[in-house]
Amino acid sequence: MPPASVPFADLHAQYLSLKSEIDQAISAVIGESAFIRGSFVDHFEKNFKELLGIEHCISCGNGTDAIYIAMKGLGIKPGDEVITTAHSWISTSETISQAGGKVVFCDTTPDTFTIDPEQIKAKITQRTVGIIPVHLYGHPANMDPIIDIANKNNLWVVEDCAQAHLARYKSKVVGTIGTAGTFSFYPGKNLGAMGDAGAIVTQDSKLAAWCALFARHGGKGEHQIEGINSRMDGIQAAILNVKIPRLEDWTKKRQLIAKKYDEMLAGIGDIEIPKVSPDVEHVYHLYVIKTRSREAIQMKFKENNIGFSINYPKALPFYPAYSSLGHKPSDFPNAYGYQDRILSLPMFPEMTDNQQEIVVRSICNSF
Ligand SMILES: *Cc1c(COP(=O)(O)O)cnc(C)c1O
Repeated sequence: MPPASVPFADLHAQYLSLKSEIDQAISAVIGESAFIRGSFVDHFEKNFKELLGIEHCISCGNGTDAIYIAMKGLGIKPGDEVITTAHSWISTSETISQAGGKVVFCDTTPDTFTIDPEQIKAKITQRTVGIIPVHLYGHPANMDPIIDIANKNNLWVVEDCAQAHLARYKSKVVGTIGTAGTFSFYPGKNLGAMGDAGAIVTQDSKLAAWCALFARHGGKGEHQIEGINSRMDGIQAAILNVKIPRLEDWTKKRQLIAKKYDEMLAGIGDIEIPKVSPDVEHVYHLYVIKTRSREAIQMKFKENNIGFSINYPKALPFYPAYSSLGHKPSDFPNAYGYQDRILSLPMFPEMTDNQQEIVVRSICNSF
């Protein structure tokens, strides 16, 4: 018998569940030659801002551009300091440098993998202009104290929501709490296109108008400013339009799968299941455990053909890209402390009970 196989995520299962609608949507875009921006993209912007209950949505090329464009719109200048988390995907910090700013890393809390508001305070200087919290893995950052610090110090807040579509902090959907929110629709994200796509959301009309200009060459016909080319394409928008009405249901399925993992993994070896703060709704883009037996589990997973991932192998300050900052492990005791213990288990809405049991059995057999 071939070994049982559980993928880390199963994009094809999701496609099959919507095949006729997605195929039709793609044909419609081709039928209208609405390849870049156009009516499908306009519909997407409307659907997405309605989904979040926010005033403005500016579509763009990808989630990395979304962060860059938002920061440019907020007027970042060379040498301005932006505080962000030591634990994220590099888009969060590389865009600060691209926009001319200086990256200031801040440690995470020991429990939630998100930026620690207490430690933000110590990082603020005369040059600080903004904070980028990341709702990592789908768990909202602790926004009330972050907004409070920002207001007291006249800073903007850009929420990186790339992993947290529909996550809630005290009943507010993430992306609607800070000055702006940025989203990625990379295929593997909770709301995924079939290529690159991203968006910026905000309640601020002036910021929205500027971002839209900047992302589209500074305006069509009459170039008000020099911009960049970061546009959503029609096929991605049409696919996202098919998926948006399903997102809530997929999110509930992720939460159910997480709950089952929590129950099945309780008390196994030294496994620490993900902790969830009170008053937040975690949307489990990733289900990340902590364990000192990571090597053994990875070996079992490979043996049994089970997908896994490490998000991410190092905290950002310890990659060669940031060696010039000269950080030491003791600068980020939490992010550094767990970087060798985190492991992302298979997690996708279509995951079956049987698949989950195979994963858990493999983990049990690693101890
Ligand atoms: C995926 C991701 C991004 C970037 O999105 P792309 O669409 O891949 O450019 C930014 N931040 C975080 C935390 C992400 O996970």
